[in-house]
Amino acid sequence: MLYSSTRGGEAGITASQAILKGLAADGGLFMPETLPTLGKPLTELARMSYQDLAYEVMKEFFTDFTEQELRDCIAHAYDAKFDTDRIAPLVKKDNAYFLELFHGKTIAFKDMALSILPHLMVTSARKNHCQDRIVILTATSGDTGKAAMAGFADVPGTEIIVFYPYGGVSKFQELQMRTEKGRNTHAAAIRGNFDDAQTGVKQIFGDHEFAESLKERGVVLSSANSINIGRLIPQVVYYVYAYGQLLNAGEIEAGEAINVCVPTGNFGNILAAYFAKHMGVPVAKLVCASNENKVLTDFFATGSYDRNRPFLLTSSPSMDILISSNLERLIYLSCGRDTGKTAELMENLKTKGAYSVTEEMKRFMEDFVGGSASEQEVSETICTLQKNTGYVIDPHTAVAKTVYDRYRAESGDTTKTVIASTASPFKFAPVVLTALGRNGKRDDVFAVIDELSALSGVAEPKAVSEVRTDPIRHNTIGEIRDMEGIVENFLFKM
Ligand SMILES: *Cc1c(COP(=O)(O)O)cnc(C)c1O
Repeated sequence: MLYSSTRGGEAGITASQAILKGLAADGGLFMPETLPTLGKPLTELARMSYQDLAYEVMKEFFTDFTEQELRDCIAHAYDAKFDTDRIAPLVKKDNAYFLELFHGKTIAFKDMALSILPHLMVTSARKNHCQDRIVILTATSGDTGKAAMAGFADVPGTEIIVFYPYGGVSKFQELQMRTEKGRNTHAAAIRGNFDDAQTGVKQIFGDHEFAESLKERGVVLSSANSINIGRLIPQVVYYVYAYGQLLNAGEIEAGEAINVCVPTGNFGNILAAYFAKHMGVPVAKLVCASNENKVLTDFFATGSYDRNRPFLLTSSPSMDILISSNLERLIYLSCGRDTGKTAELMENLKTKGAYSVTEEMKRFMEDFVGGSASEQEVSETICTLQKNTGYVIDPHTAVAKTVYDRYRAESGDTTKTVIASTASPFKFAPVVLTALGRNGKRDDVFAVIDELSALSGVAEPKAVSEVRTDPIRHNTIGEIRDMEGIVENFLFKM
């Protein structure tokens, strides 16, 4: 299996090279040159552990890894870091099945990919005879930072440096990062906002002189961005797993189609579901749920993508996105892998902030249904579901549940539906508790968590208890203009 850029500039790239590069040199994203199918029947895959299934799925994409290499990566990723050996349990509540993707280290779905990416990267480096220390740089508005730190923590041959805006992340998120124990992890607060931090990181990546000077000292910089194929493919696994769980529980018959509903930001998670469909999982509709930043809802309704609109801050911050990077991969498939067309549309996005697909491309995407939820609806959904079932969901998952309920009512489509549940409600305790009609806006976030725990009857996850008790280990505060110096300090000063 070889990979090529959606914009035509690179082709014939192995999986391990694509993982190391992240983004193609022409700015495009790497795509497998064909979408593979599952090598075994779903009824057989349904009986496997998450880890064995992960191997069956990933081996179709990462064909230059040996079986041992891939199995090692999987074993290191999906282990006791997860608080359940099912890794991604499926829970039936109300009219849907919630696929809980939040049982990893940071109680959000980014863990599903970020716990394996570091191992895929280190293995890829070894396969390509790269001896250097791999240093991951990332700017975070809160969630990705801790997930990346936890994923790379103590992975030999790697170092992870996270920049976050000083005073610009929640108290809880800041504590999560500052208490991270991994000896190769570093976090720095930067005086500026998230965009400043992000721009600073991009500048470091663009500074060739700096890269040279690091290279002389045995260091290469890399990113753990969500467009990396090493993050996308591991996400395919849990959709196959969900189907198997439905079969095992007797909820569906072999071959029966299901729908999938995904709270969407960068379009990575739902694209993974689409890949699962191509691999042979009977998926009918892919319901793409957005919050009030509903660029994708409008796109699927009209065929026009337009980011020229106000950026809204919502209670589902991980979906506050106006450019969904991974959509480029669907665009590429929808025009029959026409790299010229893909490059043209992405150029329009860059220069005008907008583009339109052809009628034919729009027809190709008919399996996708868009929908959006308002802040008010999200809050009501959390409250209603808790009242009716006792089950408490986070605001991102509530966006999906809201959109799914509306889709079901309007279309009359009662196909069994899996909703991707992307974060633990404890991660967003203040918003969730407020939605439940209690006082979630107190200064003491741990008191809010205690009340949520009592109300939901769910013990707080370990990720929360750790933040309560672990000592603060990261104290760096710096200026935007000093970010390269901060990197050098972390890497070379003992
Ligand atoms: C990142 C994230 C999403 C969005 O996923 P994409 O793959 O970017 O579409 C949704 N919910 C949560 C909690 C997230 O962290």
